[in-house]
Amino acid sequence: SRAFRDHGSNPKLVLLCTTVSGGGLLAYGEAVGASEAAVMEKKKVVVLGTGWAGTSFLKNLNNPRYEVHVVSPRNYFAFTPLLPSVTCGTVEARSIVEPVRNIFRKQKMDVQFSEAECLKIDAANRKVYCRSNINSNTNEKEEFVVDYDYLIIAVGANVNTFNTPGVTENCHFLKEVEDAQKIRRTVIDCFERASLPSVSEEEKKRILHFAIVGGGPTGVEFAASLHDFVTEDLVKIYPGIKDLVKITLLEAGDHILSMFDKRITAFAEEKFGRDGIDVKTGSMVVKVSEKEISTKEMKNGGAITTIPYGMAVWSTGIGTRPFIKDFMSQIGQTNRRAIATDEWLRVEATNNVYALGDCATINQRKVMEDIAAIFKKADKDNSGTLTVKEFQEVLDDICERYPQVELYLKSNQMHDLADLLKESIGDVEKESIELNIEELKSALSKVDSQMKFLPATAQVASQQGTYLAKCFNRMEECEKNPEGPIRFRGEGRHRFKPFRYKHLGQFAPLGGEQTAAQLPGDWVSIGHSSQWLWYSVYASKQVSWRTRALVVSDWTRRFIFGRDSSQI
Ligand code: FAD
Repeated sequence: SRAFRDHGSNPKLVLLCTTVSGGGLLAYGEAVGASEAAVMEKKKVVVLGTGWAGTSFLKNLNNPRYEVHVVSPRNYFAFTPLLPSVTCGTVEARSIVEPVRNIFRKQKMDVQFSEAECLKIDAANRKVYCRSNINSNTNEKEEFVVDYDYLIIAVGANVNTFNTPGVTENCHFLKEVEDAQKIRRTVIDCFERASLPSVSEEEKKRILHFAIVGGGPTGVEFAASLHDFVTEDLVKIYPGIKDLVKITLLEAGDHILSMFDKRITAFAEEKFGRDGIDVKTGSMVVKVSEKEISTKEMKNGGAITTIPYGMAVWSTGIGTRPFIKDFMSQIGQTNRRAIATDEWLRVEATNNVYALGDCATINQRKVMEDIAAIFKKADKDNSGTLTVKEFQEVLDDICERYPQVELYLKSNQMHDLADLLKESIGDVEKESIELNIEELKSALSKVDSQMKFLPATAQVASQQGTYLAKCFNRMEECEKNPEGPIRFRGEGRHRFKPFRYKHLGQFAPLGGEQTAAQLPGDWVSIGHSSQWLWYSVYASKQVSWRTRALVVSDWTRRFIFGRDSSQI
């Protein structure tokens, strides 16, 4: 019964065969046969994952030419930016999830959903092997195989523990809705345990020590939410132990929120200091046991320190899912953190597999090689020189082909590229500039190491999903009339314009109704007004009116009655 059942063969086809063999029903069979043939012509699109990338792809796909099969272990979409609010009961878990079937229902398309996880991708035979999430009567989980014409991989990422001993066993993660619910229950548990009369003062202190590992946006937001929960709600109902509570944020680097503007980092560190949140930078966690965290203190010559704790939350970044690692080794992409795609989100070394969201990354090295070759090609007479105008045209071509280079050029670091290019090819202000291909390549490889990958955010994932759906919607049209740039390798143009990421800014909620916002154009705003901007952006970004109404009503409830501290 555990044998894989091949869902690739359409059950309707079997019905058609028996009808045809039924003699008298032949005419009916032929009629059905014609329509079935049309159905069979549909291309099978298999989508793995119903997170930001998968859902935005599905929401925007509207070409009836596709027969879509969605495979995901969760039958809902979760609005992850509000997960930290769920950990403290500011928002209820149900308010931030939307059943995916509600989302497909609105599509005029043939969409099938299987609540299952993908175990293996067989790229050579275009099949995915899946296991249902639901236990059967015999407590076995059904396994099945789905075949595809196009595969969309949008499975997100794992938590990265960096193989630190004891993390998986002793730390909480904050990745899924269940994680947030578990954290909420554990926080209340700690307060209840510390209130028991038999517990010593020392033990109470340990139990009420909340350690957060990782000073990125998630760790910082969780620390701020927990601080609000404790100071605004829990101190009122646990007055006897309120002075024993401690929150520590451990960060291996020199600063928290290092990906934000320096003004935001400084404000956050200063605010946390005022709030009594102990921010320990240069503190790398090397081991977590049941009651203690061991850290290597970088500022103290690498000395090992141990900190007793009651609850630890691990939030240090993302890693690769095992079946994705296996798929990457099948297609020769070992030693990478994420699946490398081209600018059209197509997985390198495949024709019909696309990867988007946290599990994928655009291959920067290939981009850099191409750029070097574009320069070489522009040097038509092989003279080793380009005019300023030619140089400008080359840059325009590069930016059209590789939007993330343009993004990089526009960002602060872009001056580095300009400087490096100037360094290697001479003064761009001159009418004619020296172009030394070898020097240029070495300059570009320096840029390669500096150029940031697209961040692993919901913003990127959802824009990629929308982009890819639009490509799929216009596949036939663009095959006839390609609209992309001229192919660098091969003839003609690319079918589509490459994916272009539009950065809309980022938030870092810091607690006490204050948020830091870094908006496009390096515009920074910190304080209560940004908190209201945060409320309005997150309310507007909800996937449905139902979740929007629930989230807004949770916020209102919290304002009026405070957060709920019951164990449910
Ligand atoms: P996910 O959204 O993680 O979705 C992955 C999907 O794949 C899920 O449906 C999962 O069930 C499914 N899946 C997993 N394994 C399998 C399998 N084997 N087979 C099939 N399906 C599978 N980003 C922002 O831009 N702004 C924020 O404020 C922000 N806040 C965040 C707060 C938290 C606490 C967290 C954890 C993340 C936050 N992010 C934020 C990041 C953002 O959530 C991710 O970048 C985004 O979810 C990536 O989307 P995705 O579709 O690639 O992956």
